Amino acid sequence: MCGIVGYVGKNQAAPILLDGLAKLEYRGYDSAGIANIVDGKIEINKAKGKLAVLSDLVDGGSKIDSTIGIGHTRWATHGKPSDENSHPHMAEGGKFAIVHNGIIENYIELKANLVASGVQFKSETDSEVVAHLLEKHYEGDLLAAVKKTVEHLEGSYALGIVCTDYPDRFVAVRRSSPLIVGISDEGNFVASDIPAILAYTRKIYHLNDGDIVDLYADSVKIYDSELNPVMKQVEVVTWDVKAAEKGGYDCFMHKEIEEQPRALHDTISPRIDEQGKIVLDGVNLTKEDIEKCDKIYIVACGSAYHVGIVGKYTIEKLTRKPVEVDLASEFRYRDPIVNENTLMIIISQSGETADTLAALKEGKRMGARILSIVNVVGSSIANESDDVLYTWAGPEIAVATTKAYSTQLSMIYLIALYMADKLGMISEEELRSNLSALLDVPNLVEEIIKKNDPIVRELAEKYKEIDHAYYLGRNLDYAVAMEASLKLKEVSYVHSEAYAAGELKHGTISLIEQDTLVVALASCSKVLEKTLSNIEEVKSRGALVLTLTSEGNTAVESVSDHVIYLPKTKEMFMPSLEVVPMQMLGYYMAIARGCDVDKPRNLAKSVTVE
Ligand code: GLU
Repeated sequence: MCGIVGYVGKNQAAPILLDGLAKLEYRGYDSAGIANIVDGKIEINKAKGKLAVLSDLVDGGSKIDSTIGIGHTRWATHGKPSDENSHPHMAEGGKFAIVHNGIIENYIELKANLVASGVQFKSETDSEVVAHLLEKHYEGDLLAAVKKTVEHLEGSYALGIVCTDYPDRFVAVRRSSPLIVGISDEGNFVASDIPAILAYTRKIYHLNDGDIVDLYADSVKIYDSELNPVMKQVEVVTWDVKAAEKGGYDCFMHKEIEEQPRALHDTISPRIDEQGKIVLDGVNLTKEDIEKCDKIYIVACGSAYHVGIVGKYTIEKLTRKPVEVDLASEFRYRDPIVNENTLMIIISQSGETADTLAALKEGKRMGARILSIVNVVGSSIANESDDVLYTWAGPEIAVATTKAYSTQLSMIYLIALYMADKLGMISEEELRSNLSALLDVPNLVEEIIKKNDPIVRELAEKYKEIDHAYYLGRNLDYAVAMEASLKLKEVSYVHSEAYAAGELKHGTISLIEQDTLVVALASCSKVLEKTLSNIEEVKSRGALVLTLTSEGNTAVESVSDHVIYLPKTKEMFMPSLEVVPMQMLGYYMAIARGCDVDKPRNLAKSVTVE
């Protein structure tokens, strides 16, 4: 999720590691650490908090007499931010230290086996298993031990590994987490992103999934996962540091839109086991708890509130439990009816949203059970909740949310299906087919991004002069319309409103005139005819209509100026697909209008005031 830097060369390693980690600070992190081999032993320095805390601890690295080391900034996914949970992690015998970015999805099983064989764990992280597995599989051949270890890992990882038997060399390996290699006459590097090493070299190798790299001061060898040597072309980076931070994208919002397939995969797939059952880690809601619950409140702000609307439609449909969605700032002051039979689902990216936290406390005081969906491990909302589900979206930097919203949505689906399953309201077969469709959502999102990028860019160029836009939809399409409208207004400053399609004629239709942009979301088959009539109503008053619908719904063409077709999935999951071109439209409109996409005026990422 965050930052790795590794170095072996002619120079003192620790200052280089600290400097490299500082260049990765923009990625967000909660703790930092380095491991160096000093006099044949591994020396680890690590601390919760800013890099400055670590740097102070080691006097900027000046006193660590070593020319080899690995460094890490952690963005906690498993285990709270703390000194113990910070990386690097060491194997018991002190022979190996590792840093890890990503998530080891099967760590519970691996940890249980290691514990059964007598291994003692020092941290709550998923990562620590890697250090112990290396020790277990090591028979004198470092690369063989790495190969064997990663064969046992499921999930995503970029790993840096040092071993005291080899004080002149370190190894790195990646799968589904970023890691590049940098080479120079002064030494060789690995880093999770280019800015970390740009001050030292512009010559890099990109690694494929599964590649294992063996680094010495004067050579780098790359192998595939079977340890066959791989020849790579050196690439020369021409970006400056600012461009490199964004991985070549013009802004973080664009990067984060395109990270969604990965973020969704990381959030969904560990929650579905091989038997096709939902495993909600961090949730202890039993069948009895769910049966007892007679009312569900979903409480959130902004985009998270829009996730809540999808939650209401989905949970009510699947479980027949009444769900109310509340804006946190309203809930906390409106005297809601809450008791011990109430379940409150709290949604917040940062886990620090002031109104949401206050609403949570109010609900808790009145006896509700609190289940939260947050992106930041160890945040205040996570700490105050009875049950916590983390969206493993990774740090989100752009103010306008994209990947956090999408992963929150996927958690809501999982909660709805989990509750329906516990209550016996969904058949095994239906559950399995829903979960298999959900697992496919990341692929569909990837397809949508690829296909629609040029299309949406062109539409934004066409629409860039507009002053107003209206987003219409019914049912789940309405929930997405709200998020789509917010995306447009927050980043491009175009005034926009979302309406339940049937509601427009009760007043707002008076604002529709020649060339007013109306974006119609038309995927819900049950109400498709009705939505079509509503589109007709605005079209006949001169609106310019962009319609989003599923493949095959060609009937929309006669009432639309432009149509974006989305691949078919279960209707319940259509919001996950629909929102993507809508995020892209907001983004491209902002670009076309010359706005500061990542930092829209007057907005803050984490809203910690009322
Ligand atoms: N899953 C690991 C942890 O929670 C690594 C997180 C990261 O990528 O920073 O420690």
